[in-house]
Amino acid sequence: MRPDILNPLFAEISALKGVGPALARPLERLGLARAVDVAFHLPGSWVDRKLTDTLDMADAGRIIGIVLTPVEYKASGGSRAPFRVQATDRHGNYVSLIFFGRNSGWPRKLLPLGEPRFVSGKLDHYGQDLQIVHPDHVLPIEEAKDIPEREPVYGLSEGLTNNRMRELAAQALQRAPDLPEWIEPSLLAQKDWPGWHEALARAHTDPADMVAKARLAYDEIFAGQLALMLVRASSRRRRGTPIEGDGHLRSMLKLPFAPTGAQRRSIGEIEGDMAQATPMLRLLQGDVGSGKTLVALMALLNAVEAGAQGAMLAPTEILARQHFATLQNMLAGLPVNIAILTGREKGKAREATLMGLADGGIHILVGTHAIFQDAVQYRNLALAVIDEQHRFGVAQRMMLTAKAERTPHLLVMTATPIPRTLTLTYYGEMEVSRLDEMPPGRQPIETRVLSTARVDEVIEALGRHIAGGGQAYWVCPLVEESETSDQQAAEARAESLRMRFGDAIALVHGRMKGPDKDAVMEAFAADRTKVLVATTVIEVGVDVPNATLMIIEGADRFGLAQLHQLRGRVGRGDKASVCLLLRGGALGETSRARLALMRETNDGFRIAEEDLKLRGAGELLGTRQSGEAQFRLANPEQIAELIDPARDDARLLIDRDGGLDLPRGQAARTCLYLFERDAAVGLLRSG
Ligand code: ADP
Ligand code: MG
Repeated sequence: MRPDILNPLFAEISALKGVGPALARPLERLGLARAVDVAFHLPGSWVDRKLTDTLDMADAGRIIGIVLTPVEYKASGGSRAPFRVQATDRHGNYVSLIFFGRNSGWPRKLLPLGEPRFVSGKLDHYGQDLQIVHPDHVLPIEEAKDIPEREPVYGLSEGLTNNRMRELAAQALQRAPDLPEWIEPSLLAQKDWPGWHEALARAHTDPADMVAKARLAYDEIFAGQLALMLVRASSRRRRGTPIEGDGHLRSMLKLPFAPTGAQRRSIGEIEGDMAQATPMLRLLQGDVGSGKTLVALMALLNAVEAGAQGAMLAPTEILARQHFATLQNMLAGLPVNIAILTGREKGKAREATLMGLADGGIHILVGTHAIFQDAVQYRNLALAVIDEQHRFGVAQRMMLTAKAERTPHLLVMTATPIPRTLTLTYYGEMEVSRLDEMPPGRQPIETRVLSTARVDEVIEALGRHIAGGGQAYWVCPLVEESETSDQQAAEARAESLRMRFGDAIALVHGRMKGPDKDAVMEAFAADRTKVLVATTVIEVGVDVPNATLMIIEGADRFGLAQLHQLRGRVGRGDKASVCLLLRGGALGETSRARLALMRETNDGFRIAEEDLKLRGAGELLGTRQSGEAQFRLANPEQIAELIDPARDDARLLIDRDGGLDLPRGQAARTCLYLFERDAAVGLLRSG
């Protein structure tokens, strides 16, 4: 349970004064749902305010703070005309304070004639006249000292002003308690870092305060490292089953190809881990098409040969079915029983599968997260393979590790080519195997970047492609951050393509029911439909070698890792493939560079490394893709600088006080809760 001391901070955002439904919406768009989110929504930049006592044409364009005395109201013209207040500085220089679209009552009240006020805003000139349009602040003089010379500027969304955001941040800060110190004292001293609360306050008042910001970033990194280390430690303490298959099943496999060197090496590493009594915790990283399925199969058979069971978890229904079909195929003729379990298996079939798992009649289970629900009892589960880790997140990984008495060996597979420097950050002390060699005979994919304005030409090319017997994917862009609008975009595109190509066009999106989705995928795989219009649900796994054209609309709005995975849907057969990236009109330099990179290389690891340089770690795995919040406070430079000390500090702490019971350990628990690593604390208790 979260310590009470943190509760005020974890209150719903509506608990903050002044937050009603109207404000909740723009806050929600920024991902700010609780006070703590506001507290961690740090200002990124600032404006410098020149405090002066003289109006000066030379300051036009700057934000100034100055004491002015209103001398005259000018309500000119019609109702739409602005309301003006003429005011003077103490030397008698004039300025017009201009208010649009308000009734004049408000400025009159704010600026009574003859009474000096502190006014701040951007000074402009209109011909020879100075003016300030909508001052940021108008205050009684004695309150002017509250206005900082350097004013923080927050990330905002429509309907939210910077002043309001500042107010909310102040409230959130009030709710933030003083917390016990979890940082190693010598490190704290060496870095000259303030305590947590002071650091937070400083980061909000002076966005240029790098020392305070570094401390907050460190806390976040530290919590992440500590959590990963606790998972690791807990899995080390657990007992797994040492597995050493004798190879009798694997030797029966009739593969149409020889494994690559990278596959061989990875299989060897996995066998080595599985032979230990400590459960394996290994990440298999390999680009789309690098052959992870074979490696998984070998590991699963290793378990089955030793008389145990294996389970493979896929992120989606479609992918689970495809894995099931692939594995079933490869296992043809072997005395191995494989079954599938998803939310869709019901009634008798489901019962039969559950029985088979309990009595050991089923050797390998493939499915969605349904396979780790409480109702599912295994006789002897020795290996869990998780495909596409980034869809699941650390929490589920922990849950999984925490569940069984005998912890299964764990193999996590990902096609997200996380750069080497970040592997530790994201996966902690997991062992890593890399499939850095592609199976031979792959045709390179030619990638072109085109403006969306040329979509008609693209449709022509699509027509020629399907006339020649080819199939194609058409991926629709992300619209806002909602599945519904993605779906609408895809529906509209499918509709317009149908006008031209009729029944050759199929549509699949995330909101479709499983059976419907599968029916569409099956028809496409069987070449009964020619163009699959899709939202990103086809992102992972689907394998249709005859589809050799990939069109991605709004390509500049996807993450590169995601683009790379999408592109990996083509180039699966022995025919040359083409990927067309349609981009929006005006692109920034980074967007241009990113798309150019896609054109230049097919190497997922290289794309990841370069994208890291272009965009930074925080964005590399967008939350949408990863399904788990990544760093909110730490930027890539800070991660690079602080990851080592954070890891050392976390390790030292665990070595000295593995149960986190001593005062610093207790403080570190609070830090884990603060960064919502509750599951890691749970592992501590269950020991
Ligand atoms: P991943 O899951 O890593 O994206 P898959 O396991 O689906 O890749 O493999 C992609 C394709 O490559 C499959 O059709 C598979 O049969 C084939 N394949 C795997 N290993 C090899 C190999 N060593 N040589 C040739 N083809 C291979
Ligand atoms: Mg795969």
